Amino acid sequence: MTGRIYNFSAGPAMLPVSVLETARDEMFSFRGTGMSVMEMSHRSNAFAEVLDQAESGLRRLLVVPDSYKILFLQGGASLQFSMVPLNFLGSNESADYIITGAWGKKAAAEAEKCGDVQVIYSSEETGFKTAPISELIFSSHAKYLHFTSNETIEGVEFSRDLDAGGIPVVCDASSNILSKPIDVSKYSLIYAGAQKNIGPSGVTVIIISGEMLDQIPREQHRMLDYRQFAEHDSMPNTPNTWGIYLISLVAEWLTEQGGLTSMGVKNRQKAAYLYKAIDNSDGYYRGHANVDSRSRMNITFRLSSVELDDRFCSEAAMEGLDGLRGHRSLGGIRASIYNAFPFEGVKALVDFMEDFARRNG
Ligand code: PMP
Repeated sequence: MTGRIYNFSAGPAMLPVSVLETARDEMFSFRGTGMSVMEMSHRSNAFAEVLDQAESGLRRLLVVPDSYKILFLQGGASLQFSMVPLNFLGSNESADYIITGAWGKKAAAEAEKCGDVQVIYSSEETGFKTAPISELIFSSHAKYLHFTSNETIEGVEFSRDLDAGGIPVVCDASSNILSKPIDVSKYSLIYAGAQKNIGPSGVTVIIISGEMLDQIPREQHRMLDYRQFAEHDSMPNTPNTWGIYLISLVAEWLTEQGGLTSMGVKNRQKAAYLYKAIDNSDGYYRGHANVDSRSRMNITFRLSSVELDDRFCSEAAMEGLDGLRGHRSLGGIRASIYNAFPFEGVKALVDFMEDFARRNG
């Protein structure tokens, strides 16, 4: 990997090297067109093929049922915090929210501007260290249930698909989509900013059921209306063509890697290797999330002081291990190891952790 470092950034995050190489090779003339994807009309046949490859690639990988649409939007996952309630929560209606971290809390705050929000689970008081393990009680009249399958800042992940007993399930899967197989049919709407596991920033992938699309009120603002995107092949206006192109390449790469079952195994192995180093450090490194709620994507831990956390990050960066500083709201260390992050990089971090503990014990 010439000149490449191990980049532990939470997103935008590492992309597969072969994806970058293909994008480089096709930069000046994309498959004989004499122009790059960035320069071609989104209405051209060449781009229609790119869009189709991105869509069909994701559909195959995630085994998305035919009755669901896959859409490519802009505005990040943050826009979805508003778009979901704007489309599905009327002022006299109620939705259930599960809050296991900072992103879920932000999503709920936006929904409150539209209607009634019932927080049926929150781990905020105990510092966002857990995902619910015991049975949840859903409101029978809830329009939908919203949860965040992986909280990127705290490193807290659900280990299962949620069943809300018939209430439509809406999931922010920004930081663990494509990291393992999921049962899409259990969800009514999944959204994910692309910049962690799917591609570059600037595209948000939406997977939405036909039933959910049918519920959108007719008077919705056009650019905030999922139906408009569904009816116009994600192009009611100019989409992020370059981002969608990279998604098509990432989908191809994932297929070559053996698909999501294979990614799931690799991701479990990478995370287990890192958590073992934390657990075997005699308390030198302290994990943030409870063991049963640990994320396989964002591994969060801290040392005994802020000074040591700082020194750890600075020295690691000098060794080519970058992006380890925890989110500014939480501090500590965060190692984000999405699909494209190689096992060798995790090994390099563990070697560094052991050496650092010896030198600064
Ligand atoms: N949800 C989750 C789980 C995230 O990790 C992030 C970003 N890190 C967001 C939402 C917000 O994403 P964006 O910056 O694309 O709006």
